[in-house]
Amino acid sequence: MALPFQNRLGIIHELLQKKGNNSQFYKFIADPPTTTMQRLKALTTGSLPTFVDAGANFASAKVLEDNILRQMVKRGKNITFMGDDTWVSLFDDFRKAFPYPSFNVKDLHTVDNGVIKHLIPELKKRDWNLFIAHFLGVDHCGHRYGPNHPAMAAKLEQMDDVLRSIVGELKNDTLLVVIGDHGMTATGDHGGDSPEEVEAAAFFYSPKEMFENPKKDKIETISQIDLVPTLSLLLDLPIPFSNLGTILADFFSSKSSINSQLERLKVLQINSQQISRYLQTYIKQSDEFNHRQYSELEKLLEKCQKDLKEIIQRIKIDRKFEGVTKVLNEIESNYKTYLHSTKEMCRLIWAKFDTDWMLSGGILLLMNIVVFIFLLNLEEMDIKNITSIFFVHFIVFISCVISNLLASIIVGPTVIYTLTKCKMTNENILLCFFTILFNIIHLSNSFVVHEDKILQFLLTSIVWFMAYRTSASSKKLHLLLVVFFFSISIRISREFCACREEQGQDCTATRWLKPLSSISDNLSGYKQMRFLLSLSAISTASGGISLWLKAVGSLNSFSPPIVSFKYIVPICILSNCVHWALQLLPNNVYEKLDSWIIVAPPRLTYLLITVSILLTLIYPLCVMEISKFNSIPQTNNLIPLIFERLKTKKTPPIVFGLLTVYSSPILIVLICLTVTLSLLVGDSYTPSLGK
Ligand SMILES: [Zn+2]
Repeated sequence: MALPFQNRLGIIHELLQKKGNNSQFYKFIADPPTTTMQRLKALTTGSLPTFVDAGANFASAKVLEDNILRQMVKRGKNITFMGDDTWVSLFDDFRKAFPYPSFNVKDLHTVDNGVIKHLIPELKKRDWNLFIAHFLGVDHCGHRYGPNHPAMAAKLEQMDDVLRSIVGELKNDTLLVVIGDHGMTATGDHGGDSPEEVEAAAFFYSPKEMFENPKKDKIETISQIDLVPTLSLLLDLPIPFSNLGTILADFFSSKSSINSQLERLKVLQINSQQISRYLQTYIKQSDEFNHRQYSELEKLLEKCQKDLKEIIQRIKIDRKFEGVTKVLNEIESNYKTYLHSTKEMCRLIWAKFDTDWMLSGGILLLMNIVVFIFLLNLEEMDIKNITSIFFVHFIVFISCVISNLLASIIVGPTVIYTLTKCKMTNENILLCFFTILFNIIHLSNSFVVHEDKILQFLLTSIVWFMAYRTSASSKKLHLLLVVFFFSISIRISREFCACREEQGQDCTATRWLKPLSSISDNLSGYKQMRFLLSLSAISTASGGISLWLKAVGSLNSFSPPIVSFKYIVPICILSNCVHWALQLLPNNVYEKLDSWIIVAPPRLTYLLITVSILLTLIYPLCVMEISKFNSIPQTNNLIPLIFERLKTKKTPPIVFGLLTVYSSPILIVLICLTVTLSLLVGDSYTPSLGK
């Protein structure tokens, strides 16, 4: 018996049977991730999806890469769009748009009914060159009920009716393309790389006979990006710059005569030259390719070009036809090999899931949870335990690089040891629960997209909960004030949140996120205000720590961390300021500066901070001992000296800064990291670090 989703699109079957010369059917494979936004980008640019989008800019999620829609608009052609509103968040190129909200997956009908309402009237107007109708009901039906449900059958039958009405409206110069951008699992989900998710179908139909050799025993498989160069040439447009798809030569001529074979070779040549041009540009900026493979492919392309030129000469000028078909077949197969191999080479570096590194990430995440649970019980632990757990953490980190098996062998006993050592109070159990919960969300796509908001919510909730549970009533007011300001800080920090591209219209980036150097000179007042704010934020942060260290008496010692805090950190802050001040210069002056002037201040900061952190790690103590002669001891190793004095029963030593013996070096390392980070993230984020 057929499943609910089978045999519902009867129109496709009928057309393939009755009008074989007018229709084509392919298995249509998506590159993971199989999410709609990534699919739409691939189907318009022809490039492979990457998690870190090279073109992602600060203020918008729009597609910036060259794409088929932009090429159409450039040539004065009109696009009518209706359906899933993801399109309008990615493109501005529609002359007419009827977007409907795609957010509510429980809603099976709003988008589809909207499209159906406008579809036929707009088709009839014939004021378009490209007509996009993106139905969403089948996808939402999958999310809500899964594919094996009567609702899916009903939805697909509705789509069958829609397709029939479209076919009735088509004129001879029109090509109907029916595609799915991704598949779905048995539970109706998609996003990953399983066969159920990446396999979709593509059906092509035109009232004019286009395909001369349609009878095939097996359904051919094509990549989704292959649609881009094919549609480009059919619409008489240049192929988008970063396209990696292979043209479907059947669409141009599928006969075996010499002339139609030459026609096919011409489109394959255009496609190959476009890809070669793109790779040449790309390879100048990146050395990810295997250079030997790349140069072999370029040699193959050169050979194709040379052979094609020679054979055309032989046919058109010398009029010698002997053995021509064999040579033409060979050239065609070489072109196809070139196109296929370049796509595979790029797929290897751009769309790869590295399971080894993913596992390492998982192990480190688990280790972090263990360390967190450990730190919760800090009051019952002594310094030896703390050092050993951080040491184990470090070993796990290193062994992840060597082998995941080794890392898991170390993590296992650590987890058991931690759990047996911990005395869990009710609060700690709750905190652990929150932490584990927060780490579990990494398994869910939609939670990861809004991770920043979830983290802020959890942080605020935990802090208020802790304040509520604290019993000491004398300090309650003080505590409430601290918690209140902490919550406000968290709220303000949203101003500095960068948008993930998946958040789309849910997130608008603030003006903070533009680096100083990219702000136009007309806004010089704003530029200076930003500079002063960054400056004051970082000075306040280090000034505050300085006051605190002074208050606890640590600032008087001559230990390496204190020396680096007192002298090196200010130099670094100064050099950061020089770096930002250079960016305040008008753009035409800044561009003329020698490059060493631009890189010198940040490099100085990196060098000095590395030295400070290393020194602090080697001699972490920030205490000062005053002997009875009030002379400051010259040794850095104070602890043995103190014990020596206690043992020999001399006057007990007076030591400053012992109360904060652990926290002072941590604070100093933190401020060192802040100074470095402020360089890395740019001046725009610095106020957030200062906070
Ligand atoms: Zn979906």
